[in-house]
Amino acid sequence: MPEEAKTRVAFLGLGHMGGPMAVNLVKAGYDVIGFDVVPAALDAAREHGIPVAASAPETIPGAEIVLTMFPSGQHVLDAYRGANGEPGLLAAAAPNTMFLDCSTINVDEAREAARLALDAGHRSVDAPVSGGVVGAEAGTLTFMVGALPEDFETVRPLFDVMGKRAVLCGEHGAGQAAKVCNNLILGVSMIAVSEAFVLGEKLGLTHQALFDVASAASGQCWALTTNCPVPGPVPTSPANRDYQPGFAGALMAKDLRLALNALQSTGVAARMGPLASEIYDAFAAEGGAGRDFSGIITDIRDKSGQ
Ligand code: NAD
Repeated sequence: MPEEAKTRVAFLGLGHMGGPMAVNLVKAGYDVIGFDVVPAALDAAREHGIPVAASAPETIPGAEIVLTMFPSGQHVLDAYRGANGEPGLLAAAAPNTMFLDCSTINVDEAREAARLALDAGHRSVDAPVSGGVVGAEAGTLTFMVGALPEDFETVRPLFDVMGKRAVLCGEHGAGQAAKVCNNLILGVSMIAVSEAFVLGEKLGLTHQALFDVASAASGQCWALTTNCPVPGPVPTSPANRDYQPGFAGALMAKDLRLALNALQSTGVAARMGPLASEIYDAFAAEGGAGRDFSGIITDIRDKSGQ
């Protein structure tokens, strides 16, 4: 058992991602104490062998690392500062506690969370993930990390347990920045690949012919060669199972809203990003929230007439 295996980790947010991530830490021998505001998530955690506390503050005594896996930045800031009469985690923690946030949140919020943690005498790492629930269960997530190098080294053993890759992208907020930039590319490229397939259909090209050309030419990208939006060319892509996610439309819509916020706050003269955000918001609102984001092709096809 590794030396780090006895590290005490307060794990808050035991949802779709946090639940299995916490299970992997428990299995690796970490001294995990979990909490979630939803009783059903607490029950599921207990069933999976995660010790749980009755409240968030009760997870804190003795914790060397406070790991959060929440839906949004507001949840993170509220939990750090305290809200609704509940004391904040930062005030409850012993000096120099590591605050590790793995939620996907706005870059500005991640920097604010780090500032609050540092001002309270703690350490801070932002480490959003990619790999989805399947990756969380299998322990194969990728972590995009914003941290001081020494803090990255402190939490790296946890990344090794919960994931297969961790990239130090820069200082506080850089993990969220990397994630939002990557998903901006992904959202825009999936729309482009989908429009190209629908255009190919109109022009009488088979899916396979377009795939064979583009996958070996300058149109090559992950949206085409791994998550191909038409069934056939890539048998493992969600298109072959009626667009079961995969990466759900709701999450792509969320991540593109974060990208849009970052584009606006930095003043980037972007046109594709805001449009992609609008397209995926509509997709999610019109039945695509629970479908793989590559299902956007069916919308494009439906709106293209016969
Ligand atoms: P989820 O909604 O299933 O889980 C979040 C959990 O946090 C919920 O159970 C909620 O009750 C809990 N929570 C909220 N506030 C809390 C508080 N103050 N204290 C304790 N618990 C609290 O969401 P998820 O799918 O697990 O995603 C978590 C994060 O990971 C999100 O930021 C999401 O964008 C990101 N993410 C998700 C996926 C995915 O495939 N689901 C992939 C990559 C990244």
